Amino acid sequence: MRIDMKEFTGECTCGKEHRLKVKDMILEQGALQRIPEFLQKDPYTQYRNFAMVCDDHTYEAAGKEVERLIRGIKVIKLNPENLHANEIGVQKVRKALEQMEGIDCLIAVGSGTIHDLTRYHAYEDQIPFISVPTAASVDGYVSTVAAMSWYGFKKSMIAVSPILVVADSRVIAHAPMRLTASGVGDLLGKYTALADWKITHLLNGESICSRICSMEYEALDNLKKSLEGLIRGEIAAYEKLMYGLLLSGLAMQMTGNSRPASGSEHHMAHFWEMAVINEEISAYHGEKVGVGLVLASDIYHKAADYLRKGKFEIKESVDVETALIERIFTNKELCENIKKTNDPNLLDTIDPAVLKQKTKEITAVIEEIPKPEEIEEMLRKVNGTAGLQDLGFDLSMREKTAKIAPYIRDRITFLRILKFYDFYDKVIR
Ligand SMILES: [Zn+2]
Ligand SMILES: [Zn+2]
Repeated sequence: MRIDMKEFTGECTCGKEHRLKVKDMILEQGALQRIPEFLQKDPYTQYRNFAMVCDDHTYEAAGKEVERLIRGIKVIKLNPENLHANEIGVQKVRKALEQMEGIDCLIAVGSGTIHDLTRYHAYEDQIPFISVPTAASVDGYVSTVAAMSWYGFKKSMIAVSPILVVADSRVIAHAPMRLTASGVGDLLGKYTALADWKITHLLNGESICSRICSMEYEALDNLKKSLEGLIRGEIAAYEKLMYGLLLSGLAMQMTGNSRPASGSEHHMAHFWEMAVINEEISAYHGEKVGVGLVLASDIYHKAADYLRKGKFEIKESVDVETALIERIFTNKELCENIKKTNDPNLLDTIDPAVLKQKTKEITAVIEEIPKPEEIEEMLRKVNGTAGLQDLGFDLSMREKTAKIAPYIRDRITFLRILKFYDFYDKVIR
């Protein structure tokens, strides 16, 4: 299936003109075989000297075939052992690139880490890159930022989106199940991400795109129906999951930020990713998002119970909890960054009177999120992680995460808005 980029661009009912950085995208069985056909067309004909970034596993899965299809391509095959999108990984690719001359286009063959390393160098060297995903594990393939871990700290670094995505569903269906389950977690996370977006829109008028929302809900419905198929290795199921992940990436390009793809469930995952808490945990991004989603869904639905009963008070204002931030983030630089992220206080844009007035609408948005048990069941179906213990945390992490995660990004979520209600402490515990 060739994904028609025109479906996602142009004037929209939301008032925006949506643009994309990625020019072409195909997702089908045997897509790899079509690479030469694309390279003979504009704008790809101008590129002559390709270098592929892959690791030992992804070389076997798809890289070998890409090497056969593109004559003269240089290969940077990394050792997957302890390979991360960090300063060490960057250095490895840099060293290899220095041995090559006149490279004018990179090709990433792999999953998230390989893509982040490639997009980082594509940006640095001001050359484009082509994406060949080997697993349906994340929605970040077409991201314009590289999710790096820089000397122990998580950092989103400016990078570039691929110009072309060639997703071969036969390759993707053969990826390790753990990677697929991680992709399921990342995609299911859109339930709370979209709810956070809609609730914020209701309260302070933040711009929202209903076209993007309905495309994402459709992708979620398709994923729900495909979970058994994933276990059975059905190509069609993998195409549904991968389509949803690619769509989520396109949605971020359409809005120019991560709002359509990232809400409180991602803020929780980012918090756990930060080295400040214990040692860095080794779970995949989507695994953490899945656990964050179950937690967020549980908290939101508990809050909805209070909202339905109507017996609650709303505070006049909520200050940023500076003392809490200082207690949790003992690293000075990080702590200062978090404080800066929260200045000005985003909750000042919420009028408590409007919050009270929109109670019914907010409850309705929360009711669209599947219940935590339902989400857990979906994640377990693909052998995914769903609970804090799966990540090696004990249950005390729940309250700490709920309190601090909203401060990780300068974005309003319902998890942050909850701080207005007098039942806050009861639902986060
Ligand atoms: Zn994600
Ligand atoms: Zn729109």
